[in-house]
Amino acid sequence: MRYVQIDTQSDPQATSFPSTEKQKNLSRILVQELQQMGITDAHLDDYGYVYATIPSNTSKQVPVICYCSHVDTAPDCTGMNVKPLVHENYNGGDIVLPDDPSQVISPTDHPYLLKKKGEDIITASGTTLLGADDKAGVAVIMDMAHYFTSNPGVPHGTIKILFTPDEEIGRGVDKADLKKLGADFGYTLDAGELGAYEDETFSADGVTITFHGVSAHPGYAKDKLVNALKVAAAFLETLPKEELSPETTEKRKGFVHPVRMAGIAEKATLEFIIRDFITAKLAEYEDLLRQKLNETLKRFPGAKADFAVKEQYRNMKEVLDKYPQVSANAKEAIKRAGVPLLEMSARGGTDGSRLSFMGLPCPNIFTGEMAFHGKHEYVSVQDMQKSVETIVHLACVWEEKSR
Ligand SMILES: [Zn+2]
Repeated sequence: MRYVQIDTQSDPQATSFPSTEKQKNLSRILVQELQQMGITDAHLDDYGYVYATIPSNTSKQVPVICYCSHVDTAPDCTGMNVKPLVHENYNGGDIVLPDDPSQVISPTDHPYLLKKKGEDIITASGTTLLGADDKAGVAVIMDMAHYFTSNPGVPHGTIKILFTPDEEIGRGVDKADLKKLGADFGYTLDAGELGAYEDETFSADGVTITFHGVSAHPGYAKDKLVNALKVAAAFLETLPKEELSPETTEKRKGFVHPVRMAGIAEKATLEFIIRDFITAKLAEYEDLLRQKLNETLKRFPGAKADFAVKEQYRNMKEVLDKYPQVSANAKEAIKRAGVPLLEMSARGGTDGSRLSFMGLPCPNIFTGEMAFHGKHEYVSVQDMQKSVETIVHLACVWEEKSR
């Protein structure tokens, strides 16, 4: 409740790191609270990362695990003056948000809510997002730290804590110092439904197509002018609509998704994100784009285009399959928390997908955060508690299975 009231929205347009200084306002409080628990090495670096260590209290050699969550909230919806509300003993009906009664969180749109009857649901008040993504994860990790520091008799190996800025704008691990962190395996706390466990993410590329038209004074442009905006629009129109689009696909299907269009008559750019669970499919989709592009250009003599592909992130399962104990221990911990396991594939990336390829294999564990990036975001207090239980058990499982 306290953490979400601190505005930590990140900004994709900013070039600084972190993208917004205000993210540190929360991070500083986290450091202070960790220090108060006796975690003396907790600190904030210039880039806005919080690092902290709960030292091992066992004589066994236990791999060092890290729990990680992000402090920033999505640029899609304001995070200023968030007023969190607890709806105790939720009755299963519509939740009308008081500051804008047209904002109604309804179980019709959010069927997961029906399973939360009788639980305590936290929402925002109707004019902002809540920020449970990922402050639910932050709170869960803080409570885990509180548990282990106040129960020193429970054996565990070294536990590292990492809070990152700028996850929502895809830069969450850009300045993470994994050497300094010194962890063998990580877990992000940034998945949704109770029991959800994600060891697979999309593989992702970005494609930028720049269209070059031919400019001429419009009064005297007959048979000369080629309008880059019209070429770009014609190209977009050739793309598949019933498939390969986020609005028409789900589960394991990938897509090709235009996210930004900009330009003038002379020059226009189109940006795409390309996604699939199978990395090889990205090249297939990019070939399809090239083919449609060439067909389009033929219809506009004089027009040219550049095509640039940029790798964004890769499916972390490619890494995690090499370290089966990371998932086995997480599943055991979820079971010990008395929660049914819900194996999921993230139709997106997480900090963990990039961390996995940087050398820190890092799947994603549930926190209860739901309907994120909008005003209807909510989280169940009881789901968060189960998340805490899970990661406490998880540290214990790693200790038990070590010698
Ligand atoms: Zn998140």
